Amino acid sequence: MDTAVKKKGRKDAEDTQEIISLTNVSKAYSTGAPALKDVNLHINKGEFVFIVGDSGSGKSTLIKLLLRELVITSGDINVMGYDLARIKHRRIPKFRRNIGIVFQDFRLLKDRNVYENVAFAQRIIQKSGKEIRKNVPSILGIVGLAGKYKAKPKQLSGGEQQRVALARALVNKPAILLADEPTGNLDPKNSWEIMKLLEQINESGTTVLVVTHNREIVNAMQKRVVTLKRGVIVSDEEKGGYIDED
Ligand code: ADP
Ligand code: MG
Repeated sequence: MDTAVKKKGRKDAEDTQEIISLTNVSKAYSTGAPALKDVNLHINKGEFVFIVGDSGSGKSTLIKLLLRELVITSGDINVMGYDLARIKHRRIPKFRRNIGIVFQDFRLLKDRNVYENVAFAQRIIQKSGKEIRKNVPSILGIVGLAGKYKAKPKQLSGGEQQRVALARALVNKPAILLADEPTGNLDPKNSWEIMKLLEQINESGTTVLVVTHNREIVNAMQKRVVTLKRGVIVSDEEKGGYIDED
């Protein structure tokens, strides 16, 4: 990870611990009011950050900007040294290799088993068979699915499916893990287990951003909390809590 940041062609990030930097970022879709307005957000390597806010406040838009699925309307955005307002299209796949993503609805390949779902992510980046046979069992062990290689997604609980999604997001050893409401479809016990896994992944060095509505978990975990309201960051606190709306 650290060596990747030092490769030639990358600027800005080399002398800093900052891995995500948004300066006066706005994003407007072609319809409606701007989804993000004048956002300033700076995240250092190794941080764990919750992004909270009402539905429609711009959380998923922020995640999509960080993935360069969307392009900002104005401002500056730099992720891992990549200037995402100016990055060339052909460089986007390589940029994204360093980011893992999980969603509320898991998005697994339904006709593939657990092992294949995770191995698929390694095949995309042309890992050798030997590496895949080492890396996939290793990450499945970390997420607690060592005994489930052959199960298909529909044979798994929601919590197990999210662990597969997490393993798939992590198997390529990303510098950043983005999670957009990862516990939105899970019961409280599985929600806690997934959050504890995210914390463990963070403790091993990955920068983690988690969008969530889970007030109890946010309040208990005492991490940095960024609160969005109608596209504006209304608070950003170390060891924060969930701010009550209205
Ligand atoms: P959140 O994830 O916090 O619920 P979103 O980022 O999905 O919020 O949405 C922020 C705002 O942008 C909302 O008003 C939403 O309706 C609008 N929006 C999201 N995606 C699109 C889109 N593809 N086209 C137009 N408006 C969109
Ligand atoms: Mg959303």
